[in-house]
Amino acid sequence: MGWTGELARQISGQVLDDDASREAMAADFGRIVMRKPEGVVRPATAEDVARVIKFANRHSLKVSIRGAGHSQSGQSLSDHILLDMTSLAELPPPTDETVVCQTGLKWRALVEKLLPLGFSPPVLTNNLDVTVGGTLSTAGLGVASWRYGTQADNCLEVEVVTGEGEIVRSSPSANRDLFDAVRAGVGQFGVITEAKLKLRRTKPNFRTFFLLYDDLTLLLDDLKTVMTDARFDYLEAWCTPVPQGFKKVAGERQPFAQWFFPLHATVEVEGDSAPHPSEKLQGLNFYKLVHTEDGEIGEFFARLDDLFTLWKRAGFWDFAHPWMECILPWESTLLYVSQVLQNLPPQAIAGGHILLWPARGKASSAPLLMRPESEWLMGFGILPAVPAPRLEEALPRLALASQASMLMGGKRYLSGWLDFDAATWKLHYGEHWAAVAALKKKFDPHDVFNPGFMKTT
Ligand SMILES: Cc1cc2nc3c(=O)[nH]c(=O)nc-3n(C[C@H](O)[C@H](O)[C@H](O)COP(=O)(O)OP(=O)(O)OC[C@H]3O[C@@H](n4cnc5c(N)ncnc54)[C@H](O)[C@@H]3O)c2cc1C
Repeated sequence: MGWTGELARQISGQVLDDDASREAMAADFGRIVMRKPEGVVRPATAEDVARVIKFANRHSLKVSIRGAGHSQSGQSLSDHILLDMTSLAELPPPTDETVVCQTGLKWRALVEKLLPLGFSPPVLTNNLDVTVGGTLSTAGLGVASWRYGTQADNCLEVEVVTGEGEIVRSSPSANRDLFDAVRAGVGQFGVITEAKLKLRRTKPNFRTFFLLYDDLTLLLDDLKTVMTDARFDYLEAWCTPVPQGFKKVAGERQPFAQWFFPLHATVEVEGDSAPHPSEKLQGLNFYKLVHTEDGEIGEFFARLDDLFTLWKRAGFWDFAHPWMECILPWESTLLYVSQVLQNLPPQAIAGGHILLWPARGKASSAPLLMRPESEWLMGFGILPAVPAPRLEEALPRLALASQASMLMGGKRYLSGWLDFDAATWKLHYGEHWAAVAALKKKFDPHDVFNPGFMKTT
């Protein structure tokens, strides 16, 4: 680690090589891959980032870019230099319907600044404590994605430090190939240091209908209906098991469940214009309207905080998280989800959940977010919290679910747990594979960014 002192003299930010700083960056939310960096760099400027990359290239060191470290397969871990982007978190006042910020900023800070002004980002992820750079680099899916695509789709311009240490501005009209490479580029093509983001006017309140379905077919039909007539602003559904005891499977007694499907359908509300259920739920085939929740829109954006607090209190947050998320063609959803649920022991998702997020196929156009060519899509995620001793048993099951999703025309979402070999990376990018490899060669010619994660050769 002789290099840390030399690099510290070349940048205005910090270079930390004490054991505690390195240990703090040795794991991610997945807690499956562990890599302790030789040094943690907290840049003060984009110029610092450029100096770090050039330094790394000169000394044959490798760099991983890290936001809040909530990805799950070592995407944000490094053996050499760990670039901790949370030191770049400036947020100047928004102008018109856009905001420009540094990318180590957490979405929560952005939301807190925007809401009093009556604005919000069109798409927010469930967890607001992740960084702008971290989600732009995976895409950023949320409960408004069915309409507005991903956070990467709502990014208008970026400042990027390339793998050669050049600082380049890129947008749809300038250096477009770099703009298209870094959005959903999983930290493989450049460091996004600044982003210009689209905003939308937000109504101050919300009403959510908590609907429960006992039949996946009916849920799927209704989701298509409510997306077609744009009846709600936000849509999120789950698969929830009701354990039924044990049954014999191939001579062995195994726990099994009856699955139910909650759907939370939310509208933004101005003044006292909250819609009546008879108006909004007409023609839908749910089993039960369980609850109607009203509140301020900021409470809606942070609605998962309480769940995450519960997971933390119960210790689930510290377990391993081999999350398996994918985007399915609508046509495969019923069969795929039914089969996965049939084979999933209900206790396997304790401390987590199973998500169903519908979308229009054309809502996103970010080129590196791989998704099926289908008019309608379904985001599906098995998000368990697994105690270390059970990992060995859980990973093969999740690997099977991952392989099956790809066999049925789906694409994996790259922030989760990935056990891709070179052939699977090639399958993932399909016809775009050659273009991805060419972009990698162009923007990271020395393979400085987290080599070995994306196997392009
Ligand atoms: C509880 C929880 C809920 C979640 N909910 C959602 C959800 O609703 N929707 C969703 O889409 N995801 C969700 N995720 C996944 C999470 O949003 C992604 O893993 C996201 O990438 C994490 O952001 P981060 O700041 O922690 O990035 P990190 O995990 O630190 O990094 C993620 C990737 O981005 C790269 N990267 C980070 N910063 C930059 C940068 N400035 N420039 C270039 N590359 C960079 C890294 O190298 C890495 O490849 C959730 C995760 C958790 C733990």
